[in-house]
Amino acid sequence: MNKYSDRLQRLSYSQTFVMSNKAREMKAAGIDVISLTLGEPDFDVPANIKQAAIDAIHENYSHYSPVPGFLELRQAIAHKLKRDNNLEYKPQQIVVSNGAKQSILNVLAAIINDGDEVILPAPYWVSYHEMVKMMGGKSVFIETSIEDDYKMTAAQLQAAITPKTKAVLYSSPCNPSGSYYTRAELKAIAEVIAKHPQITVISDEIYEYINYDGEHVSIAEFPEVYEQVAVINGMSKAFAMTGWRIGYSASPEWLSGACEKIQGQMTSGANTVAQRASIVGLNTDPAEYRYMIDSFRERRDLVYNLLLEIPGLKVNLPKAAFYFFVDITHYLGKELAGKLIKDSDDFAMFLLEQAQVACVGGVSFGDPSSIRFSYAASEADLRTAMQRIKDCLIQYS
Ligand code: PMP
Ligand code: GLU
Repeated sequence: MNKYSDRLQRLSYSQTFVMSNKAREMKAAGIDVISLTLGEPDFDVPANIKQAAIDAIHENYSHYSPVPGFLELRQAIAHKLKRDNNLEYKPQQIVVSNGAKQSILNVLAAIINDGDEVILPAPYWVSYHEMVKMMGGKSVFIETSIEDDYKMTAAQLQAAITPKTKAVLYSSPCNPSGSYYTRAELKAIAEVIAKHPQITVISDEIYEYINYDGEHVSIAEFPEVYEQVAVINGMSKAFAMTGWRIGYSASPEWLSGACEKIQGQMTSGANTVAQRASIVGLNTDPAEYRYMIDSFRERRDLVYNLLLEIPGLKVNLPKAAFYFFVDITHYLGKELAGKLIKDSDDFAMFLLEQAQVACVGGVSFGDPSSIRFSYAASEADLRTAMQRIKDCLIQYS
């Protein structure tokens, strides 16, 4: 008998962590690798949030919180959703978890039966497809490309729906493409969803604030689908708190109660000190943390201009988040440094070995002809990395 569960065997390793670990190991071995792999803000946690965590320790917030999170935190989240998104949620509709990742998993665990279909517009964030598999579901992909700004249309969504469709899961702003859906696009998508009451939309809005030129819109703003939407968000990207592990879902009560039930058996809830600190982050005027977004924008512009000088790459100017998703079709099927480049994972490995720049191949994002760079790195590293890639690729173009 196999020791491992079928569930485990279906699962792949998270490619974001695989590549960042590889870069870390190479650095430890003395190789000068620049890692543009993991997507996380490179800022320190703002001082007022740090102080709130220190205070929480001194005030002995050391016992379990309620399973869905402290009431005060859920009130702060409800206040934020009203202030920033014009969304009405009561505290009992909010479940605070160990990161947005767990919030998504809670929702999937609450609604997915074996064989249920979950629609994923591709490219999608690496963990979505794996989480769907973990829960016994089946991913149904909607292909998008650089030509359509990596966004599905309402017509494509309609065509992908079957009687087995249980959920649609996407991020807007999108990791990896850096695109976001406009109000008009989401309205059209909402009209399709409203016709299928068995479908839940899992709307991952973790990059909400990192939007350079437009309005962030949540699909939950459309009343006709409010009862069908789980909004996912968290502190990781907003307040550079990735390691503190606080995320949340806001959803109709039929779903929030189910997420709480699951969480009560899985983790008992999230870290209390980080929860107390999150209250302060949420209650601070977002303008105070704007310096992070301004800095990301400067780096986006820098990297965009440098990427345009590199032969054979097709680049879209990302409008949000902190990634470049670069089309490398030009190099597919070619032999580079004696190795055939079959897909973008091969190309990412080639760049790591030949240019000492680590990125993530697009295969696990559902796009085998693109690679992802995170530009949440220092300007000096970004300049050196782009120069190295250029010097390397110039020999092969
Ligand atoms: N959704 C997306 C689109 C992400 O890029 C990430 C990466 N951190 C997450 C969710 C998970 O965030 P958290 O750290 O809150 O688990
Ligand atoms: N969201 C980040 C990324 O996509 C962090 C890694 C992860 O959670 O997979 O790189």
